[in-house]
Amino acid sequence: MHDDTPDTYLCQVNETVSCGACCGLYNLPNLSRKKLETILAQRTETFASVPRTEDGIFTFKRSNKGPHRLSRPFPGFHHCPFLGFIGERKRCVGCLLHPAAPGNNGVDYRSLSWYGELACRTYLCPATQKLSAVYKSILTQTLDNWYVFGLIVTEHALVTAYFKEMEIRLGRPVAVDDYRQNIGATVAFREFAELKIQWPYRRPESPGPCNFFFENGLYPRPAVLRNTLDIRPSSYETILQELDSGFSSAKEMAMAEQLLDDLFLKTEKAIVQCKINTGGVI
Ligand code: SF4
Ligand code: SF4
Repeated sequence: MHDDTPDTYLCQVNETVSCGACCGLYNLPNLSRKKLETILAQRTETFASVPRTEDGIFTFKRSNKGPHRLSRPFPGFHHCPFLGFIGERKRCVGCLLHPAAPGNNGVDYRSLSWYGELACRTYLCPATQKLSAVYKSILTQTLDNWYVFGLIVTEHALVTAYFKEMEIRLGRPVAVDDYRQNIGATVAFREFAELKIQWPYRRPESPGPCNFFFENGLYPRPAVLRNTLDIRPSSYETILQELDSGFSSAKEMAMAEQLLDDLFLKTEKAIVQCKINTGGVI
């Protein structure tokens, strides 16, 4: 089937939606939305008065050191102290050293970062290549805040498994219109994305919501943890694995599957009802 959905830039989407996951945004111990917001707001405010000199920026960097390497969820992954809030109203995450960031007057200061200017300027994560244009477009349309967007957008295997399941249920490829101006489907997708934050069946040793998506074999996501032999394979195996799940009983696995069943059913009903209401082809 021909699909002419234009490709979407995932890193900066709109005034409230952007991503900084590859800069280590979520690689913090005891991560929470509130804690991250506080850190970013304080950094942004402090950086506003930092002289744009090598000394000034290095002094800021030292005073904003991230948590010690060993306390980060992924010790071999950076957390950049130059992540802050950007945009006119400072409502989305971005790079304080970027030439377009306030106070930089078009000068690119990213050469002073850990990764260096070239990496900061050119890196694109696997999701930017692996997610289809339709899936990317649905992600950017449905999610309205940077925190959950950045957590889910890099999870290409999870996102793809979600849409593939919807496609099986609908008996056709998912389309951008299935979610556009469809409040029921949008809300259900947001609920799915929020599972990244509050998945009740995350295995005990999980590093938390942060995702290590660099394909260098350093921190591969493990298979679903099963503590008893009677826990069978699930039809949601990929989703459960990508949510970093662990189960102590078959009953617990059944509860997780029920949760996913309910979410998919809710989305399916919303899409079908919307098609009926608008006289479209289901
Ligand atoms: S993790 Fe991917 S989508 Fe997010 S800012 Fe980096 S390259 Fe862009
Ligand atoms: S300096 Fe590089 S790693 Fe740090 S926030 Fe900017 S782009 Fe990301």
